[in-house]
Amino acid sequence: MSKLFVICGHGAGDPGACANGYQEAERVRVLGKRIKELGGNHVILGDMSRNYYADNGISSLTISKDYQIVELHMDSAAATARGAHVIIKGGLDPDKYDIALAKFVSGMFPGRSISISKRGDLANPARAYAKGYAYRLIECGFISNADDVKVFNSGIDKLAKGILKCFGIGVQATTTSTEVKPVVKPSPTVKKTVEQIAQEVLAGKWGNGNTRKQKLKAAGYDYNTVQAKVNELCGVKTKPTTAKPKPVAPKKQTVTLPASAPTWRVYPLNVAPVVGNECGMLAPARYNGLTYEILAKPQKNVVTIQTQTFGKVNIYVGKGTGAIIK
Ligand SMILES: [Zn+2]
Repeated sequence: MSKLFVICGHGAGDPGACANGYQEAERVRVLGKRIKELGGNHVILGDMSRNYYADNGISSLTISKDYQIVELHMDSAAATARGAHVIIKGGLDPDKYDIALAKFVSGMFPGRSISISKRGDLANPARAYAKGYAYRLIECGFISNADDVKVFNSGIDKLAKGILKCFGIGVQATTTSTEVKPVVKPSPTVKKTVEQIAQEVLAGKWGNGNTRKQKLKAAGYDYNTVQAKVNELCGVKTKPTTAKPKPVAPKKQTVTLPASAPTWRVYPLNVAPVVGNECGMLAPARYNGLTYEILAKPQKNVVTIQTQTFGKVNIYVGKGTGAIIK
């Protein structure tokens, strides 16, 4: 039997992927909590208020080296993409845990031809390797796929138990699920703010699709207003044309990341902006290009921008990247 250290992806202000009314950071925390509840003292649940990716938490871990590390995520892509997979550091062979996990999660979330991916471009696998920890990241299906989300939401216990089993950890005690059925009883007199309701929607308390529409309506809320707020909180641009044009100071420069770039690495301000140090990815293609005000130029071909998801970060905009500075 192994001991497990569970990292819940994103967090600390980074919601991760948002789709189908759910935030990745919230969902993987529900799962992580359940793994801890069921695994008892064989499991350490990493501080869920942190973003281990952004704050480089793995490099400062002090747990003993016989812990197995699992980092929980959900994938995001086109709505049709489905399936779970395990990610390990490029150049390594999967160990017995990786193989067991890949078999389990791809069985629960079918749809990918490759169930173990080796990645050389992710920081946390490299950080764990440098520290001598056995590490893998699980993408527990696509949050952008309604069916995968359904499997995830209705199978959190199954998922938690299955992951534990891959490490030879059985359920420690008879515990009842803490998954609370979405019972919503808004007070008939005191209405919550749109933002509060939107947060509840993101937390999964109002269901999905038509159910959500009906519940919100029944509780006296305007579905479209709430949904617009949900999208805003998720960082989705709903109607950019209706946004008030910001008065632009004439001297300010902007950088545009072209729609042809699927991803763009962002780096914390205090590290060298080189591959491996990134704290996340922007998705210019998803938004038909992204434009940011340039806040600073800390070095040649590097600019500082303010992002909604990652806060203030540096990006590399050298020749050949396609970035346009105006
Ligand atoms: Zn993620």
